[in-house]
Amino acid sequence: MEYHRIADAHCHLHEFSDDEVKDIALLGIDVIAVSDDYYSSLRTLTLSERYNWVIPAVGIHPWSITLDSINEFNELVELVNKLKHRIKILGEIGLDKKFKSETFAYQLQIFKLFIELGEELKAILNIHAAGAWKEVLDLMIKSDISTAIIHWYTGPIELLKDLESRGFYISINPAVSIQEKHREVVAKASLDMMLVESDAPYRYRDMMLHPRNVYDVMKYIAQIKNLSYEEVYEAVAKNYEKLRNLIGLNM
Ligand SMILES: [Zn+2]
Repeated sequence: MEYHRIADAHCHLHEFSDDEVKDIALLGIDVIAVSDDYYSSLRTLTLSERYNWVIPAVGIHPWSITLDSINEFNELVELVNKLKHRIKILGEIGLDKKFKSETFAYQLQIFKLFIELGEELKAILNIHAAGAWKEVLDLMIKSDISTAIIHWYTGPIELLKDLESRGFYISINPAVSIQEKHREVVAKASLDMMLVESDAPYRYRDMMLHPRNVYDVMKYIAQIKNLSYEEVYEAVAKNYEKLRNLIGLNM
């Protein structure tokens, strides 16, 4: 299958209308489309049937987790078991202590189940870890997860080495234009572990995030790391190619 060399590694494509998705198709990138819950997972899968540049991820976002999420998780497992050949990535999943500390105990229960599911499917995890970087990393290091994409990484700099040695990726968000902590991560992290993302259509301060922003992200990485745009483009493309090989998408 033909594919693009650059991917938006974390985008909520399910939130866009059919017309908006048609415009995104013109960008010349692949999109790893994460989901928030069972119903958005269905929409993500529909979009991936329609477009071969859409790589579907199913999951339950930590912000969507409640006491009842175990039922929703079981429904997702049924869906995944029916579509094993098409679902290679689980996300958006993870833990959040920064914005949703009140449901942390439930989040932890569901996230552990997703890790087990990921091990079983040999899937990649697309991870949200705001305010819970260390907890997430500790759980994954203990697991047999082959690789993970830690989205919008603004965690401790000292964890980056562990992430890299474990073969995990971080995806860099357009917020890198203004968010100091994210800029520091780009300065310190190895280019070999970087992907680019939009987290669209999330709004960050005055920025309405959109998949087209991944090109700007590469410009900012080049600026911060004192490299040419081409060097960053080639490195990010190589990282994405490696990821595709890992999940058998280049066959
Ligand atoms: Zn997200």
